[in-house]
Amino acid sequence: MHGNREMVGEMTGKHPVNKNRRVLVTNVKILPMTGPHDFIPEGFLVIEGQHIREVGSGKPSLVRENGQIIDGKGKLVMPGFVNAHTHAAMTLMRGYADDLPLMEWLQNKIEPFECNLTGQDVYWGTMLGIAEMIKSGTTTFADMYIFMDDVARAVEETGIRAVLCRGMNGVGPNAEKALRESRDLASKWQGKADGRLKIMLGPHAPYTCPPPYLRRVMDLASELGLDMHTHLSETMAEVETIKKEYGKTPVAMFAEAGLFDHRVVAAHCVHLTDEDIETLAKNKVGVVHNPQSNMKLGSGIARVTELMAAGVTVALGTDGAASNNNLDMFEEARTAALLQKARKMDPRVITAYQALEMATVNGARVLGLDQEIGCIKPGMKADIILIDVDQPHFHPPHNLVAHLAYSAQASDVDTVIIDGKVVMQNRQLLSLNERTVIEEAGRVALRLVEGGL
Ligand SMILES: [Zn+2]
Repeated sequence: MHGNREMVGEMTGKHPVNKNRRVLVTNVKILPMTGPHDFIPEGFLVIEGQHIREVGSGKPSLVRENGQIIDGKGKLVMPGFVNAHTHAAMTLMRGYADDLPLMEWLQNKIEPFECNLTGQDVYWGTMLGIAEMIKSGTTTFADMYIFMDDVARAVEETGIRAVLCRGMNGVGPNAEKALRESRDLASKWQGKADGRLKIMLGPHAPYTCPPPYLRRVMDLASELGLDMHTHLSETMAEVETIKKEYGKTPVAMFAEAGLFDHRVVAAHCVHLTDEDIETLAKNKVGVVHNPQSNMKLGSGIARVTELMAAGVTVALGTDGAASNNNLDMFEEARTAALLQKARKMDPRVITAYQALEMATVNGARVLGLDQEIGCIKPGMKADIILIDVDQPHFHPPHNLVAHLAYSAQASDVDTVIIDGKVVMQNRQLLSLNERTVIEEAGRVALRLVEGGL
């Protein structure tokens, strides 16, 4: 067992992966997310290096030496959550601008704040986001922001897994810079941090990326072999703007520009026609549902039930903390299920298991990482969380899947392992100094607010 201090030494992601490092989790309930009926009431899990080597019930067949042993009594292990759409550094703006109409929120509060950001500010904001994500069971996040070099640095240091893209706005003053920085980001960070980093291109949205700019983004995607992450059909205002300008919906505009010839992850997709849903399904566009952000900004309710029925893979994201206001995937999964039940007036839509699937397997799938993460089975990367299920709100244990979807909370996450490394144990973060991160993020947020806003 490692103490806090030694682990911080081991965890500074720059050290090469120790292929022989072993972690054994015993006496644990296992929800592998490989199928709705797969559950091991008492079993074990063997991790070697970055990978899950063995999963089973009872005790492991081989005696393991020199490994770390984690007693899983009273705990449940499941795959870590995949937050498939966020802007982690926006934690700096948490609680800074609430209850405002979307355009006023964006133009009068968020954009002026963002104008003054430095790379170091984004680093501390991202560190705060990562601390919060690990503490609530997220092991992978997909981020779109600026100063992505500093975001990648935070990912490398903390041991979390991430899919990063530099937000690209083709109508603003930084259109060229965004193309350049995206290219640099890919050449510097693609596959780095022991393979925990994946780089995408981030054409921001239909209303910020007109077709000639999109073409340049697509050329870059083809040249570098990159997937894309975008915002799509988030608000009615966006749909109206695009219709006025191009005579078609945002989905049709992207489709006709050829964007969907590439692998695309599209956040929001709130306002869709039946035809849009067909287009997304036909082109295998991965959709990221952000129910709390959509509710808080008054954007509307996505037609998730219809998307799923059409065969679209729907993942979950928190969006930035300025519109949520936390990065808690338990809340997101629960809200996704409850919102569709209320909307369809049918409690059968989005079951507890489906909600957990959206938060894990589907996230891995839309990000093109489903061969590596998203479920627990031998050969997969060891991105797992241990949840303390021996608490009043998990009893009686009629159905732990229902409890996880409808009753669990972020603070139930006890231990987090990413890429085979223990990054949190007994709720102690081991790969970052939580106090320093809170203080530094607070310091830069205060400076930004005092900076004449
Ligand atoms: Zn967003």
